[in-house]
Amino acid sequence: MPETYAFIDAEDILSWDELSTDDEHPVIAPVQSSSQNSPSTSTCHKYLEFTDMNPTTFHVVRHFAKLLDDNGFVFIDEQEPITPELEAQINAGGKFYTLRSDLTILPFVIGGKWTATQGVGLAGCHIDALTAKLKPSSLKPKVDGYELLGVTGYSGGLDHLRLDRDLGLGGAVLIRRKDGTYARKLVTSPWPIARVPSLAEHFGVDAKYNPETEMVPVIGFDTEPEVPIDHPLADRHSAKLLRYVSSISDVPVDDIVELELELYDTQKAVIGGLKGEFVFAPRLDDRLCSWAAIYGLIEYANLYDSDSLAAHDGLSMVLLVDSEEIGSGTRTGVKGKFLNATIDKILVIKKQPPVQSVVFANSILLSADVTHLMNPNFKSAYLDKHYPLPNTGMTIKIDANGHVASEYVGYNLLKTLTSQNQLKLQQFHIRNDASSGGTIGPYLATATGARVIDIGLPILSMHSVRAMCGSEDVQNGVDFFKAFFEGWRQEYNKYRGL
Ligand code: ZN
Ligand code: ZN
Repeated sequence: MPETYAFIDAEDILSWDELSTDDEHPVIAPVQSSSQNSPSTSTCHKYLEFTDMNPTTFHVVRHFAKLLDDNGFVFIDEQEPITPELEAQINAGGKFYTLRSDLTILPFVIGGKWTATQGVGLAGCHIDALTAKLKPSSLKPKVDGYELLGVTGYSGGLDHLRLDRDLGLGGAVLIRRKDGTYARKLVTSPWPIARVPSLAEHFGVDAKYNPETEMVPVIGFDTEPEVPIDHPLADRHSAKLLRYVSSISDVPVDDIVELELELYDTQKAVIGGLKGEFVFAPRLDDRLCSWAAIYGLIEYANLYDSDSLAAHDGLSMVLLVDSEEIGSGTRTGVKGKFLNATIDKILVIKKQPPVQSVVFANSILLSADVTHLMNPNFKSAYLDKHYPLPNTGMTIKIDANGHVASEYVGYNLLKTLTSQNQLKLQQFHIRNDASSGGTIGPYLATATGARVIDIGLPILSMHSVRAMCGSEDVQNGVDFFKAFFEGWRQEYNKYRGL
């Protein structure tokens, strides 16, 4: 984490006793539920801290890489040939992860006795989230001293919901080292630097804003002429912005050669509701399922020591991908085939026939992406008996028209796994007169031929700048993924030929 990023520890956010009170403004703590100090509460705290500290996809991948390092997962460099040492480690069984450009990450746990016919149990999620990215040239002419920043919406990330939010600047800075090679440095801003101001209703202007001309973020006000800078990027970004990026990255401005930055919402994630039933947070779609899947895999991996992993014949994976919100067609999106490439590598190392189809014909791939909680103000928008409620658990998504990939066998498998683990499984289906959103599920199914089950933790306000979910559902997600990794293979053996 860059030192310049100020964050409040989640313990502090939730430490209601420590909040200052005075007679005029008493702070009323939420009713302490019996589960206040339960594992699910501390899991929720961890999630809040994670999401505040890691606003961009780059940060999320770096965070998970460190978490996996700390939990004994061995890094596999995609650009290097497999060394004899790594080959021996994978053959013996162990915990590994690989990543691509800090935008997609794939950890896995493999047993020493794994063969292609054991398949893979995978949880795939997307880690990109709606945002506003800097244009190649963010430079805009001043308007009566107002300094503006040229940005573009990533998916729906520049709509009316982004008005009047306190926005920070974050992402990756490409720097040139002294030896002529390049490196990526991640940055966040220590305070909000931008805002897209709405126009007060008094002006009587149509409330539908033009995203090119009426939603340009304001980043400063200065009536003095800008102090010029001698820099190759000076014709594309303002001198002030380049100096600011230099200060938050702690890199001399001359070493900065390119920017991949975005504006993110800086408001902290919090627990909400009278009894702390909810999480109110940015970027739940889909850092929520991603985080739960990673922790589910780590908890599953912790069930094994080196001896029991050597004797184990399973393969469990999490695939976190970028670009889902824009159609996945990038090398770090699910269409970049990182999963297929990694399976190929494992087949070679394990001296299995180099045929992915055998692996995938014996696999279950979960496509996990948040789904829609029932909104009590719009209950009629939902299909009766086909919507989830908060703090009730994972939801399977079904759609007869193929926007998601779940079908009857996968449904039954998850019903069994959840009931074996005292977990609940809810179901979602859209109304016939509404349209369904897509997931990575159909692509995973067509790219592999594997059985794919679309699931998701339910949230309200999807694609808004802040969303909400049940606070118990963070732990419910971790428990679900752990139970899946533990039980899918044995259960799926009962469905041979189906
Ligand atoms: Zn989405
Ligand atoms: Zn999503």
